[in-house]
Amino acid sequence: MRAYGHENDGVTKVPHEAEYLVAAARKLLEEEGATLGGVAEWMTESAGPTVSGRPWSPTTLRRRLRNPAIAGLRRNTEGELVEGPAEPLIPRELFEAIDRHFRQNERGQVPQHVYLLSGGTAQCDLCESPLVSRSTSKGARGYMCEAEGCGKIWISAPPLDEYVAERMLAKLSRPNTLQKLAAARDRIVSAAEGASRQLGELDLRRKELAEQLGAASLRMLDYQTAVKSLEGKRKAALAVQRRSKYLGELPELTQEGLTEWWHHTAGDEQRRALLQLVVERVRVEPATKRGSNKFDEQRFNIVYR
Ligand SMILES: [Zn+2]
Repeated sequence: MRAYGHENDGVTKVPHEAEYLVAAARKLLEEEGATLGGVAEWMTESAGPTVSGRPWSPTTLRRRLRNPAIAGLRRNTEGELVEGPAEPLIPRELFEAIDRHFRQNERGQVPQHVYLLSGGTAQCDLCESPLVSRSTSKGARGYMCEAEGCGKIWISAPPLDEYVAERMLAKLSRPNTLQKLAAARDRIVSAAEGASRQLGELDLRRKELAEQLGAASLRMLDYQTAVKSLEGKRKAALAVQRRSKYLGELPELTQEGLTEWWHHTAGDEQRRALLQLVVERVRVEPATKRGSNKFDEQRFNIVYR
């Protein structure tokens, strides 16, 4: 059986099928609240059944959209994407975006998009608590204040993320901002060296504890408490390492280079790592009109580092 979008030779493109794959990928990435099941149904209705004559299922669609051959690529033994024999059906960027999209979902994270301002960047202007990212049962994504006694903020995430990102990129035209950015990046990258050392020490300490427990010189309860504390330190060290990895992947620090990278290369986590180096926080005020869904630039204030 041939694969959808390619002829029996697995190489030659079937143009009208390629167009449907592009459309399906875009729907999944760009339409608010789109689900794999919904897009599979849309495929069956508009493109017709699969090559085996059955309706599209989420699994069939995912398998096809994740196959590098649709972008004219293949994976080498290292798992890297390299040029393959097949004619591309969709642009490489789109394939990589959809691949990232599926990977994020697999990691069991609920959000299908990364919230750019989560992790403490967005802040409640009333009580100064960090806003948390939440999605409603209808699939709207937003930031909200969940602090006890406050809880007065809800703001839609996608337009705010986009607006703050634009302002941040515009800010990079200042040499002063770029200098600060370079210094912050270097600081974090060198902190990661310390984190690697610390991870080694933590592993060692854990082995010692296990031996003490085995030799009955440590009570189970004390052992568990000690291990829990080690785990917390381990997580923090891993977070430093991860952040440094993203920042180590930054291109040359110029406004042009970073803007191009932001739009075409960076993954969501990398974008967030860059944004956090430039933006200290975004303070969000309550909506002036109740239930107003209009995006209101007066409602927030970006504080740069
Ligand atoms: Zn609050």
